[in-house]
Amino acid sequence: MTAKIIDGKAVAKEVEAEVRAQLAGLSYKPGLVAVRVGADPASEIYVRNKARKAQELGLRGTERVFDASMSQSELLAEVGRLNGDDDVDGILVQLPLPKQIDPKQVIEAIDPAKDVDGFHPINVGLLHLGRPVLVPCTPLGIMRLIASTGMAVAGARAVVVGRSDIVGKPVAALLLQQHATVTICHSRTRDLAAVTREADILVAAIGRPRWITADMVRPGAVVIDVGINRADGTLTGDVDFERVREVASWITPVPGGVGPMTIAILMSNTVAAARKRRR
Ligand code: NAP
Repeated sequence: MTAKIIDGKAVAKEVEAEVRAQLAGLSYKPGLVAVRVGADPASEIYVRNKARKAQELGLRGTERVFDASMSQSELLAEVGRLNGDDDVDGILVQLPLPKQIDPKQVIEAIDPAKDVDGFHPINVGLLHLGRPVLVPCTPLGIMRLIASTGMAVAGARAVVVGRSDIVGKPVAALLLQQHATVTICHSRTRDLAAVTREADILVAAIGRPRWITADMVRPGAVVIDVGINRADGTLTGDVDFERVREVASWITPVPGGVGPMTIAILMSNTVAAARKRRR
């Protein structure tokens, strides 16, 4: 079997079209503010792309850039100002932050109603209670990609490799909410291959190039590769794409799979936050 490719760019375009349609029905332009502290090159690109995409779709996207020497109290004051600004519907603070700033304190300072990254403990708690409001973008994008295959999640065996707060745990919570039987694996998991071979849906969020090999995949599985690994000037996922595609039924490529979904979902989260807050 050669797997069908899950086209993240195409699904992201669908999400963007939905965002445009929702915006057309609003009497205001939701505002998204992306805050960056310091000059991390990857963060620079991410933040600029987020603000640009917001503007392209018809939101008010703003980039707020601060010097790497910014103190924690200055950043907390900026977050407080954005919390109090009625024109701001979504706030995201790009991570990583310079070492003098504790990211936990910054995330906890963001008004949960404007927390479009879904990282605030209130939003994390609601997600794990099965009452999601604002959900992290990459996991929500992954669910949308799985839905695009037409595969029934309810009753399926799902294995998530990785337990980070931004991908592994939230995607596991979303799969559980959709009634999959979910297993979360991590670096201490014994006989990883035996567990992953049980998966009808396999999500790899590890950060190790081509870690998931064909012998670890159940024939016919849907395989979602979250990994972005830069090695020797090329981009590879966590899945050995060329070989795993001969076993799986559906697979995401890297690039062009999960990656394009993240910003599209951020836009949709911003519109959702605006509609909820302003109703
Ligand atoms: P992370 O915080 O480094 O977490 C990696 C997880 O993988 C950890 O839970 C770790 O286990 C587990 N792990 C490491 N080695 C393992 C092994 N040999 N066997 C089993 N599990 C192992 O990474 P992350 O932030 O979740 O990101 C994961 C990947 O996704 C990265 O490549 C990242 O760049 C990418 N990513 C992509 C997007 C996107 O938009 N496409 C968004 C976010 C992240 P322990 O907990 O035991 O250490």
